[in-house]
Amino acid sequence: HGVTGILAVQGAFAEHAAMLDRLGAPWKLLRAAEDFDDSIDRVILPGGESTTQGKLLRSTGLFEPIAAHIAAGKPVFGTCAGMILLARKLDNDSNVYFGALDAVVRRNAYGRQLGSFVATADFGASDDADAVVVASGESVSSAISAAAGEEGASEASDMSVVLKDFPLVFIRGPFVAEVGERATVETSVDGNVVGLRQGKILATAFHPELTDDTRIHELFLSL
Ligand code: GLN
Repeated sequence: HGVTGILAVQGAFAEHAAMLDRLGAPWKLLRAAEDFDDSIDRVILPGGESTTQGKLLRSTGLFEPIAAHIAAGKPVFGTCAGMILLARKLDNDSNVYFGALDAVVRRNAYGRQLGSFVATADFGASDDADAVVVASGESVSSAISAAAGEEGASEASDMSVVLKDFPLVFIRGPFVAEVGERATVETSVDGNVVGLRQGKILATAFHPELTDDTRIHELFLSL
């Protein structure tokens, strides 16, 4: 493994770093363009305020290397504002940032009163009978390697994985108003799509880095 670059211009980047520490995975904060060096093989876009992050991405010069990373099909994980930065289109904001995730995303989708709440749902396409199921507290990588061992040389990134009963923390989060053909729904809450995967892009409207559940981060590291 290389190093996970965590966008650190604004928002909840420290919490992602703490998650990666718990998994023993190296990380580097991305504050300036020169921080994006050859060691970076995956990127996390944290929660925060997407408009501010978008401006700072431009002024720091970090937009271009991250856009090139995503265009090369390398792993990227966006949480909350990070999901907004990844979306192809926003339905209540004219900005488009990386535009890589085939989805229309609605900012602050729950309104003021319901802006922040906690829910529980499975993360992963649960209609796939061959999916690797990982219970709460279990290791994603051991579940994947056990399943890969049984099936021969399957690529971990091609496997579908279901994380049972994932805690979902929402803070003035978005939801996905329209899922494009290239994206797969990973989680919904009350009929609203809040987790997507598209190749090596993961995007959640919620904040796994604010829980003590490391499974989505582990899944991301397996991509
Ligand atoms: N409301 C924020 C935005 O629209 C996202 C909130 C979050 O990342 N917690 O950018």
